[in-house]
Amino acid sequence: MNLETSIEYVKGIGSEKAKLIKNVLGVSTVEDLLNFYPLRYLDKSKVHKVSQLNNVNTDVQLKGKITSIQEVQTGKTKRLSAKFNDDTGSMDLVWFQYSKWLKEQIPVNKEIYIFGKINVFNNQFSMPHPEIEVEEKKESDNRLRPIYPSSEKLTKRGLNQKFFQTVLKNICKEIPNLIEENMPEYMMKHFKFLSRQHTYLNIHFPKDIEHFEKADYRLKFEESFFFQLGYALKKLHHKTQSHGNPFPIVGDFFTGFYKNNLPFELTGAQKRVLKEIRQDMKKPIQMNRLLQGDVGSGKTMVALLTMLIAMDNGFQSCMMAPTEILAQQHYNGIKDLLVDTGVNVRLLTGSTKASERKIIHEQLENGELSILVGTHAILEDKVKFKNLGLAIIDEQHRFGVAQRAKLWAKNKIPPHILVMTATPIPRTLAMSFYSDLDVSVIDEMPVGRKPIITAHRREKDRAYVYNFCREEIQKGRQVYFVYPLIEESETLDYKNLMVGLENVMDNFPKYNITMLHGKMKPDEKDAAMSYFASGKAEIMVATTVIEVGVNVPNASVMVIESAERFGLSQLHQLRGRVGRGAEQSYCILMTSDKLSSDSRTRIKTMTETNDGFKISEVDMKLRGPGDILGTQQSGVVDFKRLDLVEDAQIIKLTKKTVDKILETDPLLARSDNLLIKNYYLKYYRGKNKWSKIS
Ligand code: ADP
Ligand code: MG
Repeated sequence: MNLETSIEYVKGIGSEKAKLIKNVLGVSTVEDLLNFYPLRYLDKSKVHKVSQLNNVNTDVQLKGKITSIQEVQTGKTKRLSAKFNDDTGSMDLVWFQYSKWLKEQIPVNKEIYIFGKINVFNNQFSMPHPEIEVEEKKESDNRLRPIYPSSEKLTKRGLNQKFFQTVLKNICKEIPNLIEENMPEYMMKHFKFLSRQHTYLNIHFPKDIEHFEKADYRLKFEESFFFQLGYALKKLHHKTQSHGNPFPIVGDFFTGFYKNNLPFELTGAQKRVLKEIRQDMKKPIQMNRLLQGDVGSGKTMVALLTMLIAMDNGFQSCMMAPTEILAQQHYNGIKDLLVDTGVNVRLLTGSTKASERKIIHEQLENGELSILVGTHAILEDKVKFKNLGLAIIDEQHRFGVAQRAKLWAKNKIPPHILVMTATPIPRTLAMSFYSDLDVSVIDEMPVGRKPIITAHRREKDRAYVYNFCREEIQKGRQVYFVYPLIEESETLDYKNLMVGLENVMDNFPKYNITMLHGKMKPDEKDAAMSYFASGKAEIMVATTVIEVGVNVPNASVMVIESAERFGLSQLHQLRGRVGRGAEQSYCILMTSDKLSSDSRTRIKTMTETNDGFKISEVDMKLRGPGDILGTQQSGVVDFKRLDLVEDAQIIKLTKKTVDKILETDPLLARSDNLLIKNYYLKYYRGKNKWSKIS
């Protein structure tokens, strides 16, 4: 038997059962089975009493006797029911599926142990399909008993817990021949790991809780370690092997703009980040950098300055945003800033007119166009550059990895890539998900910004909230009212927004109100935006289309209606629309009176902190990492045992360990790292999901 052996040949399985297991559980080799971990463990040293049962759905073990068995007919179905007594009371054991053979096997009036899940049937505790043991128990049975993930389909066909336990026991006997060590001596000592063989033994049949925990720790560590190692090696490889266009020059475009057109002093963080980017782009290696900075931290200016460096070196740039509004806004902003510089900038989105499109295509190919701002329309194959040297992606979390890859292909030598995100993702997630990118962080807000004050208000406070808004407007400020997308159907959403609009109109009769929602045509959106941005309207009523990027520094109040319906990162993004000027800003979260506990946590988090990183940590705890990354990308962080929330410490530790090892031994050539290298080559190389991209 080796790891690749089909489970068909494992004692006790056979071809028919093997097929079933493969189909239902996706387990087909001995190795798969060893990695088929128990869901939980039953402590066989504990014997429960019937009179003390109180939890439905927990696995328990009881000791007693079956006193009678009978078949019960209800309608067309028959079930088998047995009375079980211990010295404290009695309960029913039930079989909904049974054979004559099974019925005859059930021991009556004998001392037995039964175990299984507790259920409630006819208002009484019962145990469906219990496992029964007649023998007196030996001491060795007092280990923790594994409970494997199973399904009704399997149980019905005899593949119950006892079956899996027996099969795994058989395989575990072979562990000395199957499992090789993959961690070197020095790590074993340092981290006090169980040996790999003992790890597998104890994950299936833990000697005690302590051994289970050690085994669990080691498996998690391994999973994180080799994952991180893969990325670190890839990154190293990229840095030594891949080509990129070096941008050695900082020339007139950059310095001229910096001296004459920069409307404000850069923050220290912006300067630092810019330096990191410049260092990267100087090298003949493609830059792959993630720029994280909370909403309002000034990423756009960094992007623009970076594009000017590309120009100084004779290259074109593009900047891609996830929505039309945002692309349009970037375009307007950049065009305004570059107005005296003669730099040619254009906007390409889904609604760009054919005539303009034609000019863009031509100018891109002949090199006249230096900066292209747009939506994913930029990705289309038709869009060809003469020499794309830099691609910037705003709000990276909205784009898939595949789209990033498409940009790479837009130039023979791949362009430098800068991805920007205002949704700070939790550090553990960043370490896993973005581990192929270098990370820069803008951790400082432009001077003079006051932290936004966030308050939670309910329906009964509405009059007060409106009054407050009026006061702010009288001070010369502007107000957003945001409505959630509640219904699946667009018409209902629209209706919802309209009711909101009417309500606001009734309560603010003296003011100009404008509206923005996703179904408006681009030029309508544009008109609505500029009506508000220019200050002509005091109030904007909107859906979440304003979530990203919209920039009106004079707006100081955001009222979010039905705030309990928004996700945390969405709330944080929305809140980022205010607090962009020098005035004190406010975010008011309106909710109904009854809140679920998750909603309460979200609202409370929002009122307590403005720190995007803290918020993202809470968000990940509430939603899980897959949801945060979005459907396109959630599969990327499917770990077997590792939990990105619970195991943050392990992830940090393994990252540090990997970095330390590669620092002195980047090729894993040292003999004491041989075990790591061999295991990595065997199991991880080529399995990396993004290996094709980079
Ligand atoms: P984000 O990082 O959310 O994309 P923006 O780039 O939109 O933020 O910047 C938010 C606002 O802050 C803009 O109005 C921008 O002009 C302004 N800003 C950016 N950097 C500075 C700075 N160093 N000093 C003052 N204002 C700045
Ligand atoms: Mg932005």
